[in-house]
Amino acid sequence: MAANSLIFAATSSILAKPMIKIQSFATPSLGFSSVLAPRVCSHKFPVLTVAAAASSAVQVEAESPALKPAKVLPFRVGHGFDLHRLEPGYPLIIGGIDIPFEKGCEAHSDGDVLLHCVVDAILGALGLPDIGQIFPDNDPKWKGAPSSVFIKEAVRLMHEAGYELGNLDATLILQRPKLSPHKETIRTNLSLLLGADPSVVNLKAKTHEKVDSLGENRSIAAHTVVLLMRK
Ligand SMILES: [Zn+2]
Repeated sequence: MAANSLIFAATSSILAKPMIKIQSFATPSLGFSSVLAPRVCSHKFPVLTVAAAASSAVQVEAESPALKPAKVLPFRVGHGFDLHRLEPGYPLIIGGIDIPFEKGCEAHSDGDVLLHCVVDAILGALGLPDIGQIFPDNDPKWKGAPSSVFIKEAVRLMHEAGYELGNLDATLILQRPKLSPHKETIRTNLSLLLGADPSVVNLKAKTHEKVDSLGENRSIAAHTVVLLMRK
């Protein structure tokens, strides 16, 4: 199918105001999945620019008619996943907290695996594109940006769509460092960033049994599930 313009009017009932205009400059050889590849975390897909503006629709120009406006529901569930390589010479920032460790996440932004994952979960619940499209990493505006900026924008979109956080459950997967001494600080900070009561924000951590890149301390990953409730 020739590249078509899909107007993703999240005029949809769910997003009445924010306008995120997403333009695809993909070449014909690039499929839709390439166009939608995450950008905050990996910088290998310089095919999208996002011009966020204050208006009332989400316009997606892409090669797929698959996206449809999100429906108004009393509850909406979203899932987020993120993974970063651990490399020496970078700070390890998790949930906005600087964790002392000999390695950190290599990324365009501050590489905060937990906050990226939470943002994707909220965007997913709202039926919006992923964090890489909203904050493309080829945009110098986001270079080195603290991921709290992304969380605040996701929370703003959530409220604008008429939802509030019901609860959030996140799981961090890493072999080292041990997170137990930092978990409560991370959870408190995440609650603050979300503007949520800490009782609805849960954080778990587990190792990867010393197998694969996660278990060999070469990467760190996170999963998050959120429940949004209509205000
Ligand atoms: Zn990330």
